Amino acid sequence: MTWSVKGWCPSAYRPMVSGDGLILRIKPRLGQLTVDETLLLADLAVCHGNGLIDVTMRGNLQLRGLSTEAHAPVLDALLAENLIDRDPLVEGRRAMVSTPLWTEGDLTHRLGTALIETLQDLPDLPEKMGYALDTGPARLLCNVPADVRFETAPDGLILRADGASKGIFITESNVIEALTDLLTWFTDSGGHQAGRMARHLATTELPARFQVAKPGPVTAPPTPSMTAIGPMVGVAFGAMSAADLAGLIAASRPTHIRVTPWRALILEGGTPAEHPGFVTDPTDPILRASACPGAPACASSTVETRNLASDLAPRMKAPFHVSGCAKGCAHPRPSPITLTGQAGHFGLVKNGRASDTPVETGLTPADLMERFS
Ligand code: SF4
Repeated sequence: MTWSVKGWCPSAYRPMVSGDGLILRIKPRLGQLTVDETLLLADLAVCHGNGLIDVTMRGNLQLRGLSTEAHAPVLDALLAENLIDRDPLVEGRRAMVSTPLWTEGDLTHRLGTALIETLQDLPDLPEKMGYALDTGPARLLCNVPADVRFETAPDGLILRADGASKGIFITESNVIEALTDLLTWFTDSGGHQAGRMARHLATTELPARFQVAKPGPVTAPPTPSMTAIGPMVGVAFGAMSAADLAGLIAASRPTHIRVTPWRALILEGGTPAEHPGFVTDPTDPILRASACPGAPACASSTVETRNLASDLAPRMKAPFHVSGCAKGCAHPRPSPITLTGQAGHFGLVKNGRASDTPVETGLTPADLMERFS
């Protein structure tokens, strides 16, 4: 079985076919949903999908296991609640991840709102390109995939092309003008062929006018704990059942849900609550594990992944990744240990990605349990 890199991501209008049916992605604006909106998604997951909801690395949600016939009624329900844009072009362009602890009316909220209102006027970009609003007191999103980054710097606000070490100073009044300038350069210089900003910069020099200011220091993302806006809970492997999500909401009684890009939810305005399916202990070993759905949910995989990752987690001292195939969807970056499915067995990669050459191949789950005992 092989995998292919698609030049697009699943969306509400264009779900992606997987081994367990269609995957349909919902992109909460600024990562926030009301409780009613969240419960609607849980209902749709149960009524039209397989009851599972993914939390993605860009802070989106995905309904899984939808049939082709279910697509139209789900789309209607999402449109009725304004959870997706009426214009598929704008919906497609709204690939935006926000620092999740923003508050009403602050810089991140203002910038994100302005950006959403302007998306239809921006230059046409490759479908996978997206934005990071890393504009809280400290940068949190530098490891989250994005092509254009809005960031705080010691002397103000900057706009930085992903792949460049410096950006340009911007203000709220010229942010759209500066963004349009950068995106126009990207398209005019052949960026569509590269498909992503960092890939384009690897072969094409970014003009000096876009490289003036250094971004501010980086802070580690929060782990499950009480945050300034409510308790944060981890979602093992970014996969939760709709029933567990509804149960968590009933237990915590938040006003909103914030979807973070770290496979975690923040229960905005809620009280701390334990619920099966969610991680509240920041030292829980499962938080060290990344694993894609694997077989049989993904047709590209020949191995089961998540049960193995759960079994291995208490034995691992560092982050590790179990990948159904070399595509490495769950963790595209290098990991101290990566186990990649290959023809029904696993390859062991050290300090690399799922696509890197393994130091050992042909390993079974039993071999791995013994290796990491
Ligand atoms: S990495 Fe996992 S989810 Fe991605 S294509 Fe391979 S098997 Fe499927």
